[in-house]
Amino acid sequence: MIKVEKLNKSFGDLHVLKDVDMTVKESDVVVLIGASGSGKSTLLRCLNFLEIKNSGTITIEGKQIEPDKDDLNKVRQTVGMVFQHFNLFPHKTVLENVIEAPLMVKKMKKDEAVKEGKELLAKVGLAEKADVYPSKLSGGQKQRVAIARSLAMKPDIMLFDEPTSALDPELVGEVLSTMKELAREGMTMVVVTHEMGFAREVADWVCYMHGGRIVERGHPDELFDNPTEQRTQDFLSSIL
Ligand code: ADP
Ligand code: MG
Repeated sequence: MIKVEKLNKSFGDLHVLKDVDMTVKESDVVVLIGASGSGKSTLLRCLNFLEIKNSGTITIEGKQIEPDKDDLNKVRQTVGMVFQHFNLFPHKTVLENVIEAPLMVKKMKKDEAVKEGKELLAKVGLAEKADVYPSKLSGGQKQRVAIARSLAMKPDIMLFDEPTSALDPELVGEVLSTMKELAREGMTMVVVTHEMGFAREVADWVCYMHGGRIVERGHPDELFDNPTEQRTQDFLSSIL
């Protein structure tokens, strides 16, 4: 689904991603961990072309994407993204938030978009909130709306950048449950998170990033219980 080879990204003089290689197969859940500033968000943003790489290749579903030639809006329909801050439209209801992109970008018929939007809200457990405004929702509910909104574009791959980091602890579980459900249904996912319980339970692979490189990759049990790199061990002991 995703193949990244020798990806490099700099901001001015700051070399943030250094020869990153990454492969994500269909239905894989890959969890990216690493200290703040190690390049996790930049890597995700490169994968849906919110940031443009300096060098290397990014292949999505078998097609190498070239930002100057390919329609990046189309790529972003295939690769959905959920952020730490939900950025819902405050003046639109929950359902209007979810159907906005299908209506505007995909030119879907309104009744069809509404039908699908309601199904998605039911899926994230918010059917009864369709007509309320985001300000009436808890953070966990807002994040689940953001997930439904992203799914409304029918992506094949979902990227999550610390989706629970801005939430009060008691609201984290409901968002993780929604993500687990998606994983069970076979969604291909790349997730940046500090929720190690989620990583252990759901991830097929865990990648540890340090200084702009993926320094270790393994199955969760291997990587958490028997990391081979000293830097991974140091990071894990600092957070656990
Ligand atoms: P992480 O998500 O692992 O915390 P980031 O990918 O956000 O790391 O950031 C990696 C490095 O790149 C940091 O030093 C950060 O300050 C820098 N950086 C990220 N985005 C930008 C940007 N748009 N302009 C300049 N520097 C940036
Ligand atoms: Mg980040």
